Amino acid sequence: MLYKRSSQLFADAEKVIPGGVNSPVRAFKGVGGTPIFVKSAKGAYLYDEDGNQLIDYINSWGPMILGHAFQPVIDAITERAKLGTSFGMPTELETKIAELAVSMVPNIDKIRFVNSGTEACMSAIRLARGFTGRDKIIKFAGCYHGHSDSFLIQAGSGLSTFGTPNSPGVTQGTAKDTLLANYNDIENVKALFEANKNEIAAIIIEPVAGNMGCIPPIKGFLEDLRQVCSDNNTLLIFDEVMTGFRLAKGGAQELYNIQADIVCFGKVIGGGLPVGAFAAKNEIMNYLAPIGPVYQAGTLSGNPLAMAAGLAMLEALNQDTEIFKRLDEKTAYLENGIRKVLSNNNVKFTVNRVGSMISVHFDKGAVVDFKTAKNGDNETFKKFFHGLLNQGVYIAPSAYETWFITDALTYKDLDYTIDAIDRVSKEL
Ligand code: PLP
Repeated sequence: MLYKRSSQLFADAEKVIPGGVNSPVRAFKGVGGTPIFVKSAKGAYLYDEDGNQLIDYINSWGPMILGHAFQPVIDAITERAKLGTSFGMPTELETKIAELAVSMVPNIDKIRFVNSGTEACMSAIRLARGFTGRDKIIKFAGCYHGHSDSFLIQAGSGLSTFGTPNSPGVTQGTAKDTLLANYNDIENVKALFEANKNEIAAIIIEPVAGNMGCIPPIKGFLEDLRQVCSDNNTLLIFDEVMTGFRLAKGGAQELYNIQADIVCFGKVIGGGLPVGAFAAKNEIMNYLAPIGPVYQAGTLSGNPLAMAAGLAMLEALNQDTEIFKRLDEKTAYLENGIRKVLSNNNVKFTVNRVGSMISVHFDKGAVVDFKTAKNGDNETFKKFFHGLLNQGVYIAPSAYETWFITDALTYKDLDYTIDAIDRVSKEL
């Protein structure tokens, strides 16, 4: 495939945008080469500036669960835009999407909309600190909760790709309030509670980790976290920015039957527009301004275009009783195909999957935390990535990312992908 125009556009972009991209994960630093510039997308396919068609396994890093340019979302945005794009005043639309989200997700009474997953997690932490009167939080190595200061401590994919575990610009003062634990290691968490008695406001976790590849919680881990939090009057925050409205209508809370105290959303909830949200029971949410003391705000929060897109997306997911089953079946089909061809070609690999989140790791051992995720052979991944790209299959340009399966993928697309992986794995 030719990427002549993309390369030129990247060279132009580099002159005026740091690294040529507005989010580091879009760069090809981890795999070499230059990023592909997209012109348009429809269903399961991307069309780039050189006229190539690519099967998309990133799907805007999660939001496009029903495919690109999903008609009800496009119609909702177009109709809404004609009425004005921002007012900074309440609209009925905000209540409608809030009512729907609250009806779909277990264990929440109220939801506040923001503009990104980062804002959702950042605000959830402030709320947890305000509610408990404590400063410290526990996060897990390899989990990413956005780029706000408290979270940029061993934060998975983007930072792992670049080998900068902590970012300059995050103060020591902020870092000292973030305690780090190993994913799937409850003893580690208990030891942190022991050493920081009555000081921990919240544990924040991706209930299925998606930023060090896909890592499922081992049996009992989330239950144990719930128990430890309840025992210590600490809030359990599920960062469902990836898993929310993807693994089930009610996200990971529903899938694993665990009640979190605060839940964060992003990606799917905005239907492809910039939306995040955080939600909890009344007791906690009523701590927020303007009724409570914890301040949180946003000029464009609840923006009508974003809410129209999100509402159309949630309505489609809510009405389709088979959607999560269908996504699971398609991804299981892909998983089985990948396992078969990689085994036949004697590649050392591990595949992890929960529902429509899946990742391939080039190491034979189980991948259960950040340490084991880092065992993957990056040179093999680079060849795998470029080999697939050459065959028109676009996966994330980093070994630490999850693939997001969309319902727009047909079994023909999946077969094509499995055959492409077969061809590429003969060269690894
Ligand atoms: N939380 C998780 C689990 C994420 O995967 C991400 C982004 O990938 C975020 C938070 C941050 O969301 P955003 O990029 O919308 O700020």
